[in-house]
Amino acid sequence: MHSALNYELVARCSVTKARAAVLQLPHGPVPLPIFMPVATQASLKGLTPSQLEETSCRLCLNNTYHLGLKPGQATLDAVGGAHKLQSWPHNILTDSGGFQMVSLLKLAQVTEEGVRFLSPHDGSPMLLTPEHSISLQNSIGSDIIMQLDDVIATTSPDHARIKEAMHRSIRWLDRCIKAHKYPERQNLFCIIQGGLDLELRRQCCEEMVARDTPGIAIGGLSGGEAKTEYCKVVSTCTSLLPEKKPRYVMGVGYPEDLVVSVALGADMFDCVWPTRTARFGNAVTSTGTLNLRHASFAEDFRPVEEGCTCTCCRPTSEGGLGLTRAYIYHVAAKETAGAHLLSMHNVHYLLSLMRQIRGAIIADRYPAFLKEYFVKLYGGDKTKFPDWAVEALGGVGVDLMED
Ligand SMILES: [Zn+2]
Repeated sequence: MHSALNYELVARCSVTKARAAVLQLPHGPVPLPIFMPVATQASLKGLTPSQLEETSCRLCLNNTYHLGLKPGQATLDAVGGAHKLQSWPHNILTDSGGFQMVSLLKLAQVTEEGVRFLSPHDGSPMLLTPEHSISLQNSIGSDIIMQLDDVIATTSPDHARIKEAMHRSIRWLDRCIKAHKYPERQNLFCIIQGGLDLELRRQCCEEMVARDTPGIAIGGLSGGEAKTEYCKVVSTCTSLLPEKKPRYVMGVGYPEDLVVSVALGADMFDCVWPTRTARFGNAVTSTGTLNLRHASFAEDFRPVEEGCTCTCCRPTSEGGLGLTRAYIYHVAAKETAGAHLLSMHNVHYLLSLMRQIRGAIIADRYPAFLKEYFVKLYGGDKTKFPDWAVEALGGVGVDLMED
């Protein structure tokens, strides 16, 4: 299959399965591993495109479902795609729209044809097929487009349905490949399904790798399954995937999940969590999440995180806003400004965490980085380290408990 990307391996961790690379995409290079913020309706909640650019983001996610409803395909075609619509000169990844429908619309029904649902606007019956999803994403013009897949909650007890969804996702990939009009400028990623059943995941990897898409996603996770199960699925899949293609684990954004998943061989992640949690007054920091709506921050005149270079925390003498925890406390409860500022900080935090991870892989000190990361997060108390992380990292040669 034609590819509009180039995966250039920069370094490989000598202990874990972590990799550092440069992903060359149609709108510029992206360092891997990477966290991709979600800009739902062609704007990150609370951030303008230029503010998003300032967080150092060079690849963000847009939702096909939302763009397909508003402004709609005709407008997207008229304006020349989502880059022009939001004046975003960097890369965009779009989802297929299927997950949004199944999760947002109670009446969505999956058949072999596609996902049937009732229009949220006028209640009329609609159908999202693999062909229609790709056509919408072709109009959006995103650099990475996702296949329509049949997503089932990993916690579903219906094994037959999980198996059916895995096989259907392979058939839908074939329909997506056939429908894709611009493989020379848009990269189609397949999505590995199979729930928590490692044998189904293996079969799905084999089938999908044979289709030779430019990149590969591991889907259907982060749906409330135990983290130990999550890690087994990610590690099983990465071991079966080609070395020279990017690997995207969908829906992952908690800092601990990111550092562990990179050690398991994953490269790309997305999640609405950093911006969603900002709306509840939460700041993501290297010592954990702080709820700045708590009265204990009323007179805390430190930045959200000491040394953070985001626009919110950076001192005014260095061109930032130089805002304090006390300021956020005072605006967080009633003003949307608080949520904007925390969105900026949280997205910046995750992008900067990924840069540190990448630097550690290149210096071949990722195992040491992992230990330092968990020690700092839990204030040096190893008894608080989560069992799932200790177990998963133990599986790739890193003993977190060792001094
Ligand atoms: Zn900050």
